[in-house]
Amino acid sequence: MRSRIILISIFLLAMGATFLFKKPHSTETGGVWSLTDHLNKLEYLTDSLNSILADTMDVRMASVEPGGTLGALLYSTGIEGNRYLSCCEIFIDSLGWTSVHVGDTLEALYARDTLTEVRARPRNGRGYYCIEFDGTAEPVDWYWVPEEQFRRLRAVTLVVSSSVWESIASGGVPPDLSPSGRIVTARDSVRKVAYIKGFENELANRLFVYDIDFYYDVQPGDSVWVLLEETRYPGSSETTFRRIIAAKYDFALGGMTEAIPFFHQPDSLAPDGSAIILDHYHRDGASLRTMFLKMPVPFGRISSPYSDSRMHPVLGYTRAHRGIDYAAPMGTEIYAVGDGVVTVRGFTGGYGNMVRIRHANGYETGYGHMSSYAQHQEIGSYVRQGDVIGYVGSTGLSTGPHVHFEMKKNGSYVNPASEILPPANPLLENDLDFFMLQLPVLESTWSIMAGMDIPVSQSEGTESSNTATE
Ligand SMILES: [Zn+2]
Repeated sequence: MRSRIILISIFLLAMGATFLFKKPHSTETGGVWSLTDHLNKLEYLTDSLNSILADTMDVRMASVEPGGTLGALLYSTGIEGNRYLSCCEIFIDSLGWTSVHVGDTLEALYARDTLTEVRARPRNGRGYYCIEFDGTAEPVDWYWVPEEQFRRLRAVTLVVSSSVWESIASGGVPPDLSPSGRIVTARDSVRKVAYIKGFENELANRLFVYDIDFYYDVQPGDSVWVLLEETRYPGSSETTFRRIIAAKYDFALGGMTEAIPFFHQPDSLAPDGSAIILDHYHRDGASLRTMFLKMPVPFGRISSPYSDSRMHPVLGYTRAHRGIDYAAPMGTEIYAVGDGVVTVRGFTGGYGNMVRIRHANGYETGYGHMSSYAQHQEIGSYVRQGDVIGYVGSTGLSTGPHVHFEMKKNGSYVNPASEILPPANPLLENDLDFFMLQLPVLESTWSIMAGMDIPVSQSEGTESSNTATE
């Protein structure tokens, strides 16, 4: 109970603090930002700034021209000899900056004619690569510096006309989605589609998937109130969809359904120090989701059901099929059907590229024939229900693009279609007490929270900071 109060207090405090301070530049993870740290850093910054001002600073800049190379970029900023070789090696081998594009820039910082730092900014990247040099021009450190990100809460009310997609497109996309405020370039429209897709997926395939049938229940005139969280990149003036914090769906014919947020620790399978997670509940504390999704693809046709004996299409003899095959177009996203830990991620013979996930209560799921895996996951990663783990393919023994989906309970195969799907951890005892306590507080603050910028809390589920591009 006490820890829950602390968690929520941290959340509310973090939001309150935003009015007063901006997030200090920080790449470390874990821990809650504290004012003293911030002041210490500020003092350090002033000191180093003074010492820099005492020196003569020289910044040489160059950007990639059509047909330009990394080598040319380095030469034009005066980087030669051993420093040239070490820069090439670090950029390509250690930092993974393997190809330069027109518009990428390079800055070489010199103090009293000695190279101190090299910064490379990929044009559409969310930050820059940095190589630090000591006084003798030896590289001492190199890393990726992410662009400062902000989370922003925004409340929108959508009136459903024909489809959820259409209502998001006409009223749910932020006005500052693109740098110019309008959809001008191909890149802008790709990002608009990605925003709507993320929003619709979260609303229809995750939050309300068991409460609303978006094919039969939805009527023109229904309205949805959504408190959503966006990532704002101040450097590039771009906004992306992040997740839904709370939602209410009002049916035109009467009745409503709600998704009320609760922040808590993940289940016991998650490794120690895992990020605090957000789940959604009904007003009585019942979870909005079941332990498993119905299927691992957003839309799919069962091409081969679970059976204890069937004719194998490739092998040509009778073999049990202890899983369900879902046919879906090549490249379709494959979701983890429940929260859990990745135990297998690799080529496994007949099932081709496969991912296995261990879940709570003795369950395990497997996903075969993938064309490729999701980025930023590995064996041991904790994934959440609905996270993309890979993409539909036809690797291994397969006649066409499909995902082979199987489920085990306590080591034995079970039919996922007939397996009773237990509800996802409902709120109990202390959690439920606190949920009831915070409900009126949340409701009264939702309207205030809308339109705020929240600094990214490194301790709570942020995207990987190693990516240079989207
Ligand atoms: Zn199969």
